[in-house]
Amino acid sequence: MDTEQARQRLLAERDRLEEVRQAAERLSAGAREAAERELSSADQHPAELATETIERELDQSVVQHARVELVEIEAALARVDSGTYGQCEVCSQPISEGRLEALPAARYCVEDQAKVAKAGRNGSR
Ligand SMILES: [Zn+2]
Repeated sequence: MDTEQARQRLLAERDRLEEVRQAAERLSAGAREAAERELSSADQHPAELATETIERELDQSVVQHARVELVEIEAALARVDSGTYGQCEVCSQPISEGRLEALPAARYCVEDQAKVAKAGRNGSR
């Protein structure tokens, strides 16, 4: 595992997520201003207002997703520093290079990821 390469990959991913988050927050602020203008004007358009509300919620989910991802990236960068990056947190086996390329912040190997996901589904299957 080339940790310097991993660090660069994580930093690039963090920059990208920061941009997404900031763009979504700007959009969200714009939609809020438009909604406020709408509310303060005497002639209101409920349908437009509803559209703006939906857009605002979409932006919020994008922001929320980016925040969660950023936390994962930060955790992965901390693992690079402590020398445990690329190791599965469950079985301590190395995570494959291909998987880390696709998911730089992966915490688990493919097998344990599947187990964790299954456990999270609360036995509904
Ligand atoms: Zn594992």
